[in-house]
Amino acid sequence: MLYRDYGTTGKKVSLLGFGGMRFGQIDDPEACARMMVTAAEGGVNYFDTAPAYFGTKSEEVFGKGLAELRRRKLPYYVATKTFKTTEKDIRTEIEAQLKRLDVPAIDFYHVWCITSLDNWQERKKDGILTAFRKLKDEKLINHICVSSHLVRDEIKELLMEGVFEGVLFGYSAYNFKTREAAFDAIRAKKLGAVLMNPLGGGIIPQHPELFEFLKHSPEEPTTHAALRFLWDHQDISVTLVGFNDNEQVKDTLKAIEGYQPRSGDELAAVKARASASFEGICTGCAYCDDCPQGIPIPKFMDSYNQKLLNDKPGQDVISGRLLNHWHVDISKARDCIECGQCESACTQHINIIERLKIIGGKSA
Ligand code: SF4
Ligand code: SF4
Repeated sequence: MLYRDYGTTGKKVSLLGFGGMRFGQIDDPEACARMMVTAAEGGVNYFDTAPAYFGTKSEEVFGKGLAELRRRKLPYYVATKTFKTTEKDIRTEIEAQLKRLDVPAIDFYHVWCITSLDNWQERKKDGILTAFRKLKDEKLINHICVSSHLVRDEIKELLMEGVFEGVLFGYSAYNFKTREAAFDAIRAKKLGAVLMNPLGGGIIPQHPELFEFLKHSPEEPTTHAALRFLWDHQDISVTLVGFNDNEQVKDTLKAIEGYQPRSGDELAAVKARASASFEGICTGCAYCDDCPQGIPIPKFMDSYNQKLLNDKPGQDVISGRLLNHWHVDISKARDCIECGQCESACTQHINIIERLKIIGGKSA
């Protein structure tokens, strides 16, 4: 296993982290605990969950898994999150989380899922930072972190706040352009950087043909190549992967074993190739994000990506992404007045107006 610094916390964290969002057998706590043990025996020491993964079940099985790690004297850090904003609600939530996780303190506690700077300002008004600082003073949490879906300069603005010790954000071979600005702030503020969705929420393993260029050799599994592409970024502390079963844990550990960093020039060439490879795919660059009607266009186009790359018969992947990931009302697509401003700005020349019509149900 490789270990990197988590910002200035003094903690060395494993480059591969265990994400608690995907357990294939969530109703079998022993099986879930075994997966955590396999990961920890392979050197993983960063375990991340949340209070809404499988309801509260992910935190509950983490409680069992962490107890087993302690019994076996395997070291770990635990990370979780809260969507609550008031001091009273946060305290109620963390008390329940500590019980479920069966730990006296949470190492990395996240303000969860910032989707816009307005959303962040509202949470600040509710007193979220005061609440987090008190929890830290009381040693119920060790580090104040944030999870963000912001892009480009927005994410930078959030991270330059000066209160966070680390950030959790989505970054993968297909959408890295949208989030690269985060690294300026990560370096400036010396933050820990944890990646979620490193495999594009399943897009990369389901479409390996699109990501061949990431491979170092034809035999290399695409998922290993996609993870190694991220590990080449030295600012990244942890890459979270969610696993269905123990075999996936073992397979992913092999990606670390065989990892050889690319040189800076090689990495730049692969990134250039990635940028050029996704025609018609919204890269999330957000150059279009100034709609006079207030339509969050990058979020709609990201959701349309799911249709292009991940369409499954009988599943409405666009509305699923909009509602569950972005928390955006699909009817907002119908507010478009077809001024054309966004299409002029789009770096990928995407027919945004037509896609909004399809999403909003104005055309077949
Ligand atoms: S064309 Fe529609 S979505 Fe694009 S900027 Fe104008 S109103 Fe907004
Ligand atoms: S629609 Fe175009 S400009 Fe807007 S985020 Fe996507 S690629 Fe960038």
